[in-house]
Parts: sequence; C-alpha cells; structure tokens
Amino acid sequence: MITEIKVLSEKSVDEAKKILLSGGVVGMPTETVYGLAADGTNSQAVKKIFEIKGRPSDNPLIAHVHKDFDLNKLVYIEQDYVYDLIKAYMPGPLTLVFKSKNVVCKEAVCGGQTLAVRMPSHKGCAQLLKAVNLPLVAPSANLSKHTSPVTAKHVYDDLNGKLELILDGGKCLGGIESTVLDVTEKTPRILRAGLITKEMIEKVVGSCEIAEHKSGDKVKSPGVKYTHYKPKCQTALYEESDYEQAAARYEKETADGKRAYLMCADYIADKYPNLKALRLGNTPEEIASNLYDKLLEGEKIADIIIAVAMPDEKGVNMGIMNRLRKSCG
Ligand code: AMP
Ligand code: MG
Repeated sequence: MITEIKVLSEKSVDEAKKILLSGGVVGMPTETVYGLAADGTNSQAVKKIFEIKGRPSDNPLIAHVHKDFDLNKLVYIEQDYVYDLIKAYMPGPLTLVFKSKNVVCKEAVCGGQTLAVRMPSHKGCAQLLKAVNLPLVAPSANLSKHTSPVTAKHVYDDLNGKLELILDGGKCLGGIESTVLDVTEKTPRILRAGLITKEMIEKVVGSCEIAEHKSGDKVKSPGVKYTHYKPKCQTALYEESDYEQAAARYEKETADGKRAYLMCADYIADKYPNLKALRLGNTPEEIASNLYDKLLEGEKIADIIIAVAMPDEKGVNMGIMNRLRKSCG
C-alpha cells in the first residue's frame, strides 16, 4: 500500500472521510499528538488499528467527536460536574471516561463497560470530525511502544505502507497526550496526566484524585501498564538537582566514543554551551510541546539521550514526568 501525506484541506478531508466511511484508517492531526483514526462503530475498521500499531488487545481506544456531537448518544453522563468540565475545557486535551452505551464497538473498548471520549480543538481535526459525523477512535499514530508522533512525517516514518492517507495539519502544539479523567464517580480521578492539570480540574470541580497504579491493583486505565514512548536509542534520566551528574555522564559517554546528547530545559543547556543538547524550551508548556519531537530527532542522531527531569510534578510537569519516566527511565 502506498501511503500519501496530504496537506489538510477541504479536498483531503473529503478523501479522508471516504476512506473512513468505507472502513479504512487515516492518520490525523490533533492538538495533542497525531492519531490513527477509524470509525468507532465498525469492528473491522477498529481491528485494523490494533493490527497496524501492534497494540495490545487489552488497551482501549479513545473516541473523538466533534463539539456538536451529542455525547448522550455514546455514554451515560452520571455526574453533574461533567457539564462544568465540558464548559471549561472542551474542546481541548481532556478525555472523559464514562459508562458506555455500546454504540462504539466492543473491540475499541476491549470488551470493557466504559468509553473514553474527547473533543479535539485542532481545527483540521474538528473539520474531519464534523464531516464524518461519527465517533472516530484513535490512538497515537505510532507503532506500539515507540514515541508518539507530533508531525505527519513522524507518522510516515513509523507506519509507511500500512495506511493510505495521512492528513498533514502541521506540528501538534500540545505535544503530549490528553489528560484521561474517570468521571463515573462522585470525585473525578486522573488516570493519565496531561495538559489539563489536576489544579485546573480542581478549580472547576472542587476536588480531584489521582489514580495510583500499584502492581497487583485492578488497573482502571489499562494502557498505563505498558511500555511507552521509547525512542530507538539508549536513554538515561537524571533528577533535575543532579544535572551536573547528567553532564558528567555526557562526558563519559563521549569519551567512550558514543554520540551523546543532553535533553533538557534551555536554562540547563545554557550552563553547558559546549555539550550537544536537545533543547526543550523553558516553560512547562514549551517542554511538553517539544518533548516527543526532540526524542524522535534524538533517536536519529544520538547513541544515547541523557535526559534531565523537571524540578517537580506540579501542573503540566506531572504529565511531562509521566512521559519522561516511560521514555527515558
Ligand atoms: P493512546 O490512545 O495510546 O494515547 O492511549 C489511550 C489511553 O486512554 C490509554 O492509557 C488507555 O488505557 C486510556 N483509555 C482508553 N479508554 C479507556 C477506558 N475506557 N477506561 C480507562 N482508560 C481508557
Ligand atoms: Mg499511544
């Protein structure tokens, strides 16, 4: 199969719509990362997503809908605070987990009783969702375990030959996957951290829990148990306070003949003008936005990426640290 990248336009959206309505899959941009989309009501189409990615069959998919789509068609909205969350943060990088009405097929939710739903704010993605007027299930458009793609070219590098069309909507600005929030109980619970932070949810709902994923627990967000986001080169991760050790490691690896790169915030890279660095920016938002792009750049040029952690786990840093530990830890 020949994979084409087409700049997002009315014409290419129409082409994507035809592919999706006939049970095919399409690469699509969102404001978080690129997704691999299929009609969530079509079991055969959904199975293709799992095959293409090599995704474990017990890791459910998120359904993406246009903001005008009636959520009541797909799920039971049981908690009143959900309406406040929708008003505050949707469309946007927030995924809500509800009790499913089973309109989205069982293959997409891996036989579970709940469905995760999100309304992307990316303009081109919204255009596509409006055109198809269906829930599109979409995981990140990478091979399972690899780093998530934030450009159409990243999708092509992983999935070339496995799908017909990738819509190119430019670089994803958010850069890390959506916050996944369980809203089936009185208090919402974060299953995966992202750009919509605990603090932002608390501001609207009053309280918000964070799911702990201890081994042996019945995991409510099944995806969290898998290896994720790994670049194809060696990696190491240092605490922010240990950045001098990260620099020493760089020197050692370089002396051993390895192509080493630091991956860190600009304010740390600036201390070492003579070391090669994958610079992530300074604010948490910049760092989230650049993280996967720099990991995917790094795996092409480095034998080892030596990453330096965020100073804390507050706000957006929680989502960044979750990804950094899985990719470089
Ligand atoms: P990905 O699409 O690869 O970014 O992964 C989607 C994430 O959402 C994974 O961590 C899944 O485990 C999680 N997820 C999807 N559907 C559900 C659900 N019904 N209940 C809990 N977590 C879910
Ligand atoms: Mg993924």
